[in-house]
Amino acid sequence: MSFESIRDNLEKVNYEISCAAQKSGRKAGDVKLCAVSKFHPLEDVLDAVKAGQLLFGENRVQEACSKFTSLPPEGQNAELHIIGTLQTNKAKKAAQIASCIQSVDSEKLLFELEKHLTNLDKQIDVFLEVHTGEDSKAGFKSVDELKLSLEHFAHGLYAHMNLRGLMTMAPFVEDEKLIRNSFSTLRKMREDYSREFGISTLTELSMGMSGDFKIAIEEGSTLVRVGTAIFGERDYGRA
Ligand SMILES: *Cc1c(COP(=O)(O)O)cnc(C)c1O
Repeated sequence: MSFESIRDNLEKVNYEISCAAQKSGRKAGDVKLCAVSKFHPLEDVLDAVKAGQLLFGENRVQEACSKFTSLPPEGQNAELHIIGTLQTNKAKKAAQIASCIQSVDSEKLLFELEKHLTNLDKQIDVFLEVHTGEDSKAGFKSVDELKLSLEHFAHGLYAHMNLRGLMTMAPFVEDEKLIRNSFSTLRKMREDYSREFGISTLTELSMGMSGDFKIAIEEGSTLVRVGTAIFGERDYGRA
């Protein structure tokens, strides 16, 4: 995709974000944009940086490494979030390259991340991924395990991670009610858990993708993850 297209798409998405934020009584700056560059080449990332976008999301650690560990000078300010399911054997690499892992989905993964971050003497942000829609598979396997993790954060067990919020993916359905319901469920969980566990940093909601970010913002999203609307369709045959 050309620089002009990426720049124009970013402008359009940012405009739509600010409209949706205002519609829900918030300021444009209250909602951050994570540009999802998975399956798109480094050149597209650099074009987005040139257009002013600094936060990026990648699903797979290996692909993220190939783009974000050897950034040329013009891309040095880019920041990377891991947003896809993370295997524990990739936790070390992920801890090295990312400033945030949005897709934390188990106690086992938290344990691994804390171990590697301690060795690296590094601090990162994390989101706990929750499934809120019928057909979604990603996220914590049970509410019990999720609550155990929240308890561990509350007791300071994961000193190298700042628990910033919750993340979810809405079901891929046409019915807007189901999508909205998924987002409002996450908002409610964040309210309940930050109170119940006394975690004052649990303030963010990562929800909303190209097809549903306006609904997500209306339901309280503070961080949207948008790929296709910025970089175009992904060619899954490429990687
Ligand atoms: C790919 C992906 C996105 C972006 O999806 P688009 O529909 O291309 O905007 C957002 N979140 C996660 C977790 C993803 O895997």
